[in-house]
Amino acid sequence: MEKRQLIDPWGETAIEDYEKLFADFGIRPLKPLIPLIPSPPSFIRRGVIFGHRDLELILSAIKEKKDFAVMSGIKPTGDFHLGALLTAREIVYFQKLGGFGVYCIADIEAYEDNDIPYEESERIAVDNVADVLALGFDPKRGYIYRQSKETRVKDLAFLFGRGVTLATITAIYGERHMGLYMSALVQAGDIMLPQLPDFGGPKPTLVPVGVDQDPHIRFTRDLAQKFHAKYGFYTPSATYHRIVKGLDGSPKMSKRNPMGYFTLAEDLESIKAKLIQAFTGGRATVKEQRELGGEPERCPIYDLNMFYFMEDDDKVVELYINCKNGNLLCGDCKLRTAKVVLGFVKDHQRKRVQNLDKAREILGVN
Ligand code: SF4
Repeated sequence: MEKRQLIDPWGETAIEDYEKLFADFGIRPLKPLIPLIPSPPSFIRRGVIFGHRDLELILSAIKEKKDFAVMSGIKPTGDFHLGALLTAREIVYFQKLGGFGVYCIADIEAYEDNDIPYEESERIAVDNVADVLALGFDPKRGYIYRQSKETRVKDLAFLFGRGVTLATITAIYGERHMGLYMSALVQAGDIMLPQLPDFGGPKPTLVPVGVDQDPHIRFTRDLAQKFHAKYGFYTPSATYHRIVKGLDGSPKMSKRNPMGYFTLAEDLESIKAKLIQAFTGGRATVKEQRELGGEPERCPIYDLNMFYFMEDDDKVVELYINCKNGNLLCGDCKLRTAKVVLGFVKDHQRKRVQNLDKAREILGVN
């Protein structure tokens, strides 16, 4: 029997075969829905967001101009990284289409999973919120909060606790300490928060996540269905983005190796050095690359362009072809990429500083 891929939201999940997730977990391909998505941004057009659950509910709400929410968040363990950038762009996109945006600072999870004390995550959260504001999140049509300060998500967690046995939660997350199980219940509370009467009651709710977070989505969908009769909850919808490769060639960009990733708060020279030294899909020698061409499919520099930094689809195709046919060499490609990335990060850092006071005000931090 073929083995099912393991997805661990607290581990180092690297997905070998995205197609397999459709059969293994019931995630559905996004492609057939793309023609129904209004002005789809590059990350949707190019399949960076590759799968979904019940996105049709959200698309109907957009079409019929009905209430819906889009919610996601960040674990405040450090500066904004590229995975968080993609999620933030998705929230902003759906907020602009009429969704009520909810952004959670998952400080309980940061404590339980990464042992980050609340005093420290509070400081990190200010920066994270300034980042999401700089990326276009509109606080007038949304809500930003810290889990540890939001009683309503904890109340929901206790309510949901009645719908889960130890056997169920172990089947989803494996054997973990109770703190992580409790933080999973709190996350279910986060996802369902926009459906409480304080936020206008039950409504379609979209949760954009990296595919490694799917266990939280399955868990919460189950709970929403269990408590539907009493509270009228909609089963939350989700979109899933691909996991970006590390600059060091690892299958998942992570903080394990400082040369494998960069953040949006990082010094520009440091980012440039990492890009110049990054692993690529290039060949051992220039001669070989001219003859055989590069392999963009396994190149993190190509991914950076395709996932995040190259808006024009024709330019992405051009990059792919020039890499494949050996016209483009990795040194030149890295320099071009660095120019675009640094331009974006510089502009973002300026906007981020402008949003720090607003972030402190939102979080109630001095
Ligand atoms: Fe990657 Fe660019 Fe080299 Fe192609 S030319 S392998 S895309 S760095």
